[in-house]
Amino acid sequence: MRQRRLGAQGPGLGALGLGCMGMTTAYDTNERDDEESVRVIHRAVELGVTLVDTAEVYGPYENEELVGQALAEGNLRDRVVLATKTGLMREHGNIRPDGRPERIRDAIDGSLRRLDTDHVDLYYLHRVDPEVPIEESWGSMKEVVEAGKAVRLGISEATLEQIEKAHAIHPVSAVQSEMSLWTRDWIEAGVVNWCAEAAWGKKPFDVYAATETAGIASECDLHRGMHLFEDLVITEVVDEDNRPVPPGVYGEKVLVTVLFSRTLPLIRYEMSDSVRPATSPYCPCGRPFALIDGVQGRVEDVLHFPARSGDRVTVQPALFHRVMDAVPAGGWQLIQEPEGLTVLLSGVQKGYVDDVLADSLRRELAAQGVIVPSVEVRRVPAIPRTGAGKAPLIKASVT
Ligand SMILES: [Zn+2]
Repeated sequence: MRQRRLGAQGPGLGALGLGCMGMTTAYDTNERDDEESVRVIHRAVELGVTLVDTAEVYGPYENEELVGQALAEGNLRDRVVLATKTGLMREHGNIRPDGRPERIRDAIDGSLRRLDTDHVDLYYLHRVDPEVPIEESWGSMKEVVEAGKAVRLGISEATLEQIEKAHAIHPVSAVQSEMSLWTRDWIEAGVVNWCAEAAWGKKPFDVYAATETAGIASECDLHRGMHLFEDLVITEVVDEDNRPVPPGVYGEKVLVTVLFSRTLPLIRYEMSDSVRPATSPYCPCGRPFALIDGVQGRVEDVLHFPARSGDRVTVQPALFHRVMDAVPAGGWQLIQEPEGLTVLLSGVQKGYVDDVLADSLRRELAAQGVIVPSVEVRRVPAIPRTGAGKAPLIKASVT
């Protein structure tokens, strides 16, 4: 089982968790079978599932009893990260939020009794009560931690603003919300980004290569590479025949399945990026996400030049990006033509001297062993776009 880390400091846990709600509540309760459910819990833990999730409102109470019984029978309490929730009440068949501080303080003792334990590893506020300021509910959640009855806190179906308010009082270690193609407002409202940043200290949207690749990754502080945010995108580095390349080898292309894309939901499409999966699956920084340690960029962006040695030199887009980043221009495009390099610049800051750019391009290319081409810098009102509306940064009109 692949491992994840719970929150910024939290314990490692299996990437798949077991939600127990359906064992007693919701879906088809006519099919309830406690003996089978206990076997499911035991088998899940055997297979490496460590997060076991319940709530007092499931039943109510019966689900916690069932989970407590399963863990006791299997002697599994110490092997699982046990999560339960408070803040939702079931009354006369209706469910309503109840985030009153006094209610939260009492609720934990009932949960511990039913779960047959002296603490839970993760305690969720199941809903934010619109009648109670989040600061008050979360304040009593924090007291539960201070009393040693819960190790960490989570929140469910909260807005980004509520999460931020709670986190300022006591760390939010987990966010649990419905997520599907039909229910993704909260993703788009930035909650996923908030979670990634809180856990790893980085936003996930340092997109490598062009934005359209949607290769969502962020740089690693300890390793010269980037971690792919595998919760958001499935990235497969493959050879010409679509076979996965081994670690340490550059692939010919990348197959990308974006899990939340508006335009291409769950469709696997092919990008021409050449990237290299890292040789070690484990990074010393502790992030569990797969690492790519080499990005050559998109194949179209890689230029080839005749070399002084008589060979050809391959120049990666990173070199041009480095040079162009220093130019105070609104837009640029670099075109390789038979007679040399042409650089188009738009929106250039007043006072910038184009020869500075031409010189540094020639110097960088010379350092690569290239027979230095002529470089022409041209100012244009706007960078021309292709028929498809794209304005590639680097393009070759020679092959
Ligand atoms: Zn790392």
